[in-house]
Amino acid sequence: MKVFAAHMTAECNEHVSRDARLEDFLLLYGEESLDEMCVRDVFENRGIEVVPSIYAAINPSGMIEHDAYEFIVGRIIEDLRAHLDEIDAIYLQLHGASGVRGLDCVSGEHDLLRRIREIVGVHMPIALALDPHGNVTSELASRVNILRCFRESPHIDTVDTWRIVAEKLVDLMGHRRPMHPIVRKLPIIVEGERSVSANEPMRSINRLLDEAETDERVFSASYHVGYLRHEDDKLGAAVVVVPNEPADAAWCAEVADRIARYAWDHRGEFVFGGNYGDAAESVRRAVAFEGKTAVITDSGDNCGAGSSGCGTVILRELLAHDLGGKRVLVAGVNDPAACELLSGFPVGAHVSFALGVGENEVSAPVEISGTLTVVGDAAVGSQKVVGSSYIVNVDGTGLDVLVMPHNVQYGHMEQFHAAGVEFHDYDIVVVKMGYLDTYLIPETAFHIMALTPGPTDQLYEKLPFRRIFRPMWPLDQMDELIYIE
Ligand SMILES: [Zn+2]
Repeated sequence: MKVFAAHMTAECNEHVSRDARLEDFLLLYGEESLDEMCVRDVFENRGIEVVPSIYAAINPSGMIEHDAYEFIVGRIIEDLRAHLDEIDAIYLQLHGASGVRGLDCVSGEHDLLRRIREIVGVHMPIALALDPHGNVTSELASRVNILRCFRESPHIDTVDTWRIVAEKLVDLMGHRRPMHPIVRKLPIIVEGERSVSANEPMRSINRLLDEAETDERVFSASYHVGYLRHEDDKLGAAVVVVPNEPADAAWCAEVADRIARYAWDHRGEFVFGGNYGDAAESVRRAVAFEGKTAVITDSGDNCGAGSSGCGTVILRELLAHDLGGKRVLVAGVNDPAACELLSGFPVGAHVSFALGVGENEVSAPVEISGTLTVVGDAAVGSQKVVGSSYIVNVDGTGLDVLVMPHNVQYGHMEQFHAAGVEFHDYDIVVVKMGYLDTYLIPETAFHIMALTPGPTDQLYEKLPFRRIFRPMWPLDQMDELIYIE
């Protein structure tokens, strides 16, 4: 038997001004793409040959340019047609939060599944693994046979989930039976920052899902938090339960209702975990913290969720504040023109320049006078270098600003080393993040999330949603649970 496999992941924030282009994607083909999907052995150990198409992935970004999307999907469709006569099933790793310019249905995943079904018909088994921050609808679920997302946020179980979904597809290929996911779509939209899996209610929801899956009537169960950074009629959370056999559908509907009801009854627990406050309060509390290292996450400019990294809000707050002699690092401010200017100076030079691209109030320029102390590498993740970074120490303060040429999210110690600084030399470090990422948690003595304005503003209740289902919690206050669709 043969399975066709493809990967396309993108999380698209329409409040980011720059659209994502094809060259922003990591594109791999054939065997290389299959290696990146991490499921080859799951299929091959069962004698199933994999026909890989494309691996297309991009860090959270703005909306995708239409041509870029058509290139990726065009490749999947073309490969599918070329192998249609030999494949027995389809395995997909998608995100669920892609947004494509010029696509009436907005979501690339929803468009892709519709196009795939048009080609292969309604009966070929399709298994779909998603990120929990994707929008699931009954329509999308009706086009696949197996549908499951990661449990954990931060996503430490991505590869595990991809493999679990692959194993379930192997099961279905070896023992064909009608299989249709049951969806309970909830009128709840919350951001990742309010649905971290270490906190309630996600911790209990995940426990309910795990318990449900111990019953052999439940083939798979997952909770989809959803995504709200672009306008679409598909917004909202969803519980998805896949019955093992057709006769298990009634039981699985009960399970889905029970978990959906739990989420609804506990929706008031979808709140920020830990410390949070506005920019001024965040700076004040981080300065007041005795010990190190304190971390302020600039949540409105969260590069890990696609923001530009151009925000100067926290920097301005720090400059206006008495830092009490503390050493502070702002990592960083994305300003390619400032990088260009700084590249003309040697280390040790005194520099005066305006920092901030000035695209709007969030990125308003700040006059900086200081010393260029370090030139390093701006590294994405733990390795890939995207240009030079510059550390400028502001005159008469312990405040260092890292000026960067891209929207780099600093989270790994290796990234600070690449920039030529030591994270723990500082009392306070500011990063472009929302909830504290896995790598920073053990390094951080005190964390406060600054509720700053920007493309990933956490106070999303003020966004002008027009196409979504209403009433929708927490935009609307209602007692009764009304499923969407
Ligand atoms: Zn996610």
